[in-house]
Amino acid sequence: MTYGDFNLKIHRERCTRIIATLGPASSTAETIRALSDAGADLFRLNMSHGSHDDVAKLHAIIRQVEEDTQRPIGILADLQGPKLRVGVFENDQITLEEGASFNFDMDDALGNEKRVCLPHPEIFEALEVGARLLLDDGKLNVKVTKITPDKITTTVIIGGVLSNRKGVNVPDVILPLAALTKKDLADLEFVLELGVDWLGLSFVQRAKDVKEAKDLTKGRAAILSKIEKPSAVYAIDEIVEISDAIMVARGDMGVELPMEDVPAQQKKIIRHCRKAGIPVVVATQMLESMIASPVPTRAEVSDVANAVFDGADAIMLSGESAMGKYPTEAVNVMDRIAKKIESEPSYRRALDKDIPEPEATTSDAISAAAQQVASTIEAKAIVTYTTSGSTAFRAARVRPSSPLLVLTPSKSAARRLTLAWGLNCVFTKDAMDFQDMIDKACTVSFKYGFTKLNDRIVIMAGMPFGTPGKTNVLRIARVSKRHLEK
Ligand code: PEP
Repeated sequence: MTYGDFNLKIHRERCTRIIATLGPASSTAETIRALSDAGADLFRLNMSHGSHDDVAKLHAIIRQVEEDTQRPIGILADLQGPKLRVGVFENDQITLEEGASFNFDMDDALGNEKRVCLPHPEIFEALEVGARLLLDDGKLNVKVTKITPDKITTTVIIGGVLSNRKGVNVPDVILPLAALTKKDLADLEFVLELGVDWLGLSFVQRAKDVKEAKDLTKGRAAILSKIEKPSAVYAIDEIVEISDAIMVARGDMGVELPMEDVPAQQKKIIRHCRKAGIPVVVATQMLESMIASPVPTRAEVSDVANAVFDGADAIMLSGESAMGKYPTEAVNVMDRIAKKIESEPSYRRALDKDIPEPEATTSDAISAAAQQVASTIEAKAIVTYTTSGSTAFRAARVRPSSPLLVLTPSKSAARRLTLAWGLNCVFTKDAMDFQDMIDKACTVSFKYGFTKLNDRIVIMAGMPFGTPGKTNVLRIARVSKRHLEK
């Protein structure tokens, strides 16, 4: 390796991160490497599909790409959660007519035009007359008129074809469902054993659901809560407080809430997470038309741009990269949009308008000061040392105008931090003493292309070194000749 080597250039020249969901269109080493080269910072493994063997293969390929590119890559395992489904029909499907009566029961006999099995006793316990059941991603809609312990009678409000095992959404009540199903528990243990960095929780309803997952995970992965249920929207304060990251899961959210509510919720949730200092991801249908087309619609370009303008930490591809015809192109399009928007003066102005006030902690005080000092002296980088990653998350919270370079001796922290806005992580040994802290920061910033000779950097660290939660040092340093030779 030589200094200034292009291969060591870890800076993406954008701060918004890109998550690519893997699937049949992106399961080979070549494609995953191409997605990484095109700009994917994290990969999402969707536990709703594929066997544990498939997941293990993808995990191994990603770790190899990470090794080859020397750039930490985050892996998000997205648990399926309590997805509700109807049973199976005699003729595989029926047509529900508007105004007709239709029953759901717990009899596993094949369904017909009058009834179908709904094998979820929790729904029978929680439903109330007047509540809605949304079927097949909300395409069909029925209203409850009567409930007995083993039968739900409904009237069809919006009819259509209902086929085997279609999904059911119950937006109007909190269901007494465990956040983690049997399948989730088995998947959770499996992916933690593999060593994923983030665990996605689907259909979170309340903070208690997140707590349950945290208790099981015991810090082995960070928890990302997907906000898609109205109950989660109402409990957003408590969910943000306990979660390590949040996803605005617009697919199911647009079924459970009126879809015209989704854009405002997206903005509100982003603002909320930025204030709390936890990463927030905007997901689903961002470049949907690219599943079949090499170019997106202009409306999709605007949608991605708006998420970037709002200061989201990450934007996500689902079907586009998992099963579309143009996975690499989709990452490339996101990369281009994010870079362009971030180069607009109005982007910086929009970020600055919403920088949250520091909380009364030393790491927030140092983060705020680092941003101010770096901007005043036009430092080429803010270099932050972190062991657990928490200092780096706080530094990202203030959305500094100078690039953020994170030095950490923890591989898992480096990988988790890939989800946060603007963090460029390097896995390296901790500093031995104060002078080593300065020299290492200067050397690494030069080596990775952030600085040139005589450039200034701002360093944040905690002393004694290696003690988490002790950020208490702010130092300005200049890159000198000896740093270029190390
Ligand atoms: C969503 O509903 O927007 C989402 C991201 O969840 P999934 O892709 O798992 O349905």
